[in-house]
Amino acid sequence: MLAAVNAYGQSVVLAGPNARMTALSLKKTPYFCPQCGRPVVIKAGDVNIPHFAHEANSSCDSFSEPESPRHLSGKLDLFNWIASTRDAEMEARLPDRSQRPDILTGTIAVEYQCSAITSSLFRSRTERYNNRLLTPFWLYGGPPIEKKGRYIKLTPFQRLFLRYHSQLGFYFITYYPESKLFSVYGRIIPVTTSLCFAERLDVRISEMPFPPAAVFSSNFTFSLQAFFDEKRKWIDRSRHYNNARTHLLFKSIYEAGRNPHLLPEEIGLPVRTGVAIRNHPVEWQFYIINDQKSGSPEEAAAIVRKRIESGHLKEAILPLAPLMTPEQAAADYIELINELGTGKRADSRSMGAKIQREETFCTAYEKQIIDRLIF
Ligand SMILES: [Zn+2]
Repeated sequence: MLAAVNAYGQSVVLAGPNARMTALSLKKTPYFCPQCGRPVVIKAGDVNIPHFAHEANSSCDSFSEPESPRHLSGKLDLFNWIASTRDAEMEARLPDRSQRPDILTGTIAVEYQCSAITSSLFRSRTERYNNRLLTPFWLYGGPPIEKKGRYIKLTPFQRLFLRYHSQLGFYFITYYPESKLFSVYGRIIPVTTSLCFAERLDVRISEMPFPPAAVFSSNFTFSLQAFFDEKRKWIDRSRHYNNARTHLLFKSIYEAGRNPHLLPEEIGLPVRTGVAIRNHPVEWQFYIINDQKSGSPEEAAAIVRKRIESGHLKEAILPLAPLMTPEQAAADYIELINELGTGKRADSRSMGAKIQREETFCTAYEKQIIDRLIF
């Protein structure tokens, strides 16, 4: 931790250009943890930035994670960054001591999270901030985001950081003290259950305003053809790894006398709120088309909710984007196919015919589909 109190309750923060000198000068004075009141020691070695630490075997839970060197130096960078333009309190104590944000500025509680925590802890911390009318600002500082070809791979923990903005779509922000860079990942569109399309914008901390803002270029590199290629691979892999006769999606498709590879193109399309459902688009969109009678957005929303309740589909946990629900994704999908106006089309007769139809579909509809993915 970077803030502690002395025997008189006065607090000291190890930040700024003289942090090391301050730390060394304080070494002989007793200091205490503001959260649990136990004594802390000053660490001012050569490797880590100067900081306070509990004595070994202390069970204080001041923060939601152990303080790694990256967490400490990232927190210090973020504090200096925010404090250069507005009032900021390092490791602020909230009145009921329930939790301690890394930095508090106005009504914004900054949480710089480097180690993985459970979704329930992430959610309860978020809710507790919201309940006291504070806005949590979660920044990701964990292992680098994995790239796979033209896409990124997001773990369940990384997905907790997803937020939604009308211009950025789903997005999240990372900060790495090693490079002093924020990376804004925006326009996130699920391509398979693990891969996502995303655009990334790197901004040096010295050039980033607070609260952060990011403007992506108008050049949107999403490719519908590449999306279809991944869909084909995903169907192959899923059939291979799951027992195709027990996997509910394939079972339903076979029972209807159909082939998952030959379904019409409009089953399994990218949708801008698709992140809200953890399954592949082909899965939840097949259920909608298969179960619907009226074709209304409300009906589609109800179908998706019913399939979630019966365990056929999985809802994404999005503590920072509570309005982005599976129902919203279902309604967006119905709006999209109504706009395309393709109607109910038959399956392709062969793989060759299917690939040709995909090409025709991309030429005809890619622009419309992409226009609905970004604003
Ligand atoms: Zn403590």
